[in-house]
Amino acid sequence: MALTRRSLLAGSAATAAVVGTGTVFFEEIAEAATEVAAFVKGPPVPDRPLERISPHVFMIKAPDGFPTPENQGLMSNVTFVVGDRGVVVVDSGASLQIAEMSIRQLKKLTEKPVIGIVNTHYHGDHWLGNQGFLAAYGKDVPIHAHPGTRAAIEGTTGSFWHEAMVKWTNEATLGTEIVPPNHDIGHGFEISLGDVALRMHHYGTAHTPSDILVEVLDDGVCCVGDVLMDRRIANMDDGSYPGTFETLDKVVETSKTTIWLPAHGDAGPGVLAWHRDLFMGIWESCVEAVKQNIPLEGALAFALKDPRVSSRAAETKGWDRNIGKYVSLAYLEAEQAQF
Ligand SMILES: [Zn+2]
Repeated sequence: MALTRRSLLAGSAATAAVVGTGTVFFEEIAEAATEVAAFVKGPPVPDRPLERISPHVFMIKAPDGFPTPENQGLMSNVTFVVGDRGVVVVDSGASLQIAEMSIRQLKKLTEKPVIGIVNTHYHGDHWLGNQGFLAAYGKDVPIHAHPGTRAAIEGTTGSFWHEAMVKWTNEATLGTEIVPPNHDIGHGFEISLGDVALRMHHYGTAHTPSDILVEVLDDGVCCVGDVLMDRRIANMDDGSYPGTFETLDKVVETSKTTIWLPAHGDAGPGVLAWHRDLFMGIWESCVEAVKQNIPLEGALAFALKDPRVSSRAAETKGWDRNIGKYVSLAYLEAEQAQF
């Protein structure tokens, strides 16, 4: 039976009426209870394989870049750093169900417990899975994030993402609750797992004002959250183009990264150049447009003349929907920088 809010309400009314007459049909009530459970909690997310990125780093790759009813919100990668002492999760996914699927995959690899989570920033696809990991590994598991990320998730940004994900997935993420980070961290914070350690980087506003990048020492891997994306452009609403370049330059300078692991797309050595060139194309075009007094409305056409920008159109997820908006943001930032 297809279940909608309306039929569920009608069903409860019918059950109440039956109880009222003193005749109880247990089977029907049991069936209704099962349907109610399925209704308040969305269905499981189908298993996705764990990919090995380096000796200690494993990732569940999200094939899609944006949430839909079909992908049930699986739009960003969930990463595990596995060491002697246990496992650290970098970005917990966009729902309880995604966390549960990720835990099923992790358990095929190791019985070691999750002993920490890092949320790279406050966009919902990076932390709405926190609940699932705490349910499986204990409510005292530390959830590390920049204090700005914690505050945003505790506030209206958190509830916005929670509700939006339910809507975008046509209720597939129902049952997911907001579990904010509980441990503030900043630049330089380290977590040791015995044979491998994680070091946090933060250099001011890049993708958001409170990004944390996670360097996996010795493995040469840097989990960059959304500071870099692989063939995707989205959500620079709170970000900064020059801030992104500064963060990237500092991480290149101060880490030994050979593999860039973004939350969207594939990990690899080329992710930095792919993203940096696109952003540099957008930014330098906008700086030039401002200098030439080209109005905001002309900025997109101007930026698209730059091959670093136009050449990316065909292979980039979210291009048509987002490129205009994020060129505009670059233009406004360029204008501000000028005066
Ligand atoms: Zn993001």
